[in-house]
Amino acid sequence: GIELRQISKSFGDTLVLPRIGIDIRPGEFLTLVGPSGCGKSTLLRILAGLEQPDEGSVHIDGQDMTAVPPARRNLAMVFQSYALYPHLTVAQNMMTPLILRDLSARERLPVIGPLLSRGKRREIATRVHEAAETLQIEHLLGRKPGQLSGGQRQRVALGRAMVRAPKAFLMDEPLSNLDAALRVHMRAELSQLHRRLGTTFIYVTHDQTEALTMSDRMAVMKEGRILQLGTPDDIYRDPDTLDVARFIGSPR
Ligand code: ATP
Ligand code: MG
Repeated sequence: GIELRQISKSFGDTLVLPRIGIDIRPGEFLTLVGPSGCGKSTLLRILAGLEQPDEGSVHIDGQDMTAVPPARRNLAMVFQSYALYPHLTVAQNMMTPLILRDLSARERLPVIGPLLSRGKRREIATRVHEAAETLQIEHLLGRKPGQLSGGQRQRVALGRAMVRAPKAFLMDEPLSNLDAALRVHMRAELSQLHRRLGTTFIYVTHDQTEALTMSDRMAVMKEGRILQLGTPDDIYRDPDTLDVARFIGSPR
């Protein structure tokens, strides 16, 4: 599993995370939910290695990964702004992480395809097609991001994360740029994808409905603390505090 132990983080004089800890179960869909500014993204970025904690540690499968750089944690981060390369096709966008992984820094030249062995190229193509099939974007592989809808771009970003077969998917409000109807549709797709892959999903949102409908467990946060951690059912029916009840909209 993945474990955050006693993580503290300040920005300047502001203590954003005061000793927060969480134990993530292998394969679960865990949502971090709470109001804007409560520290969700910061916590996720610390887990990804994009931010260093002031105190505490990050453990993956029992190993202390706190000092390990993001690229070597084998976690896939999916952002709200999909961060696709606009000049590359969907297929090229999806294979980029694999190509970069297989080449040394010295070899990362503008023209990278020909440097890979035939076997590697075939393996990469297979993985891209498998991911594209799962996400139903095979017909889009030759297009560029500018020729895609928001939902399609989001799927490409997921596909790019999937090809590496990561230990976990870390998602920070990945649906917030989509219109309401598409957001509801993509929620269902993400839940399905999670079931199909069986990989751990750690999902950040400030949207209670999203958390309640998608999660195996949800952690309700406020001011850098976890107020309650449990199944959506438990939290909705039996909120520990008034803050949780108010945030979730429980009838209490
Ligand atoms: P939102 O739902 O709006 O995305 P969040 O829960 O993701 O909010 P964070 O982005 O983790 O919140 O921010 C938590 C607090 O830390 C906020 O008060 C924010 O202003 C502050 N903060 C985050 N990153 C930095 C930074 N790089 N420098 C200074 N302050 C920061
Ligand atoms: Mg955020």
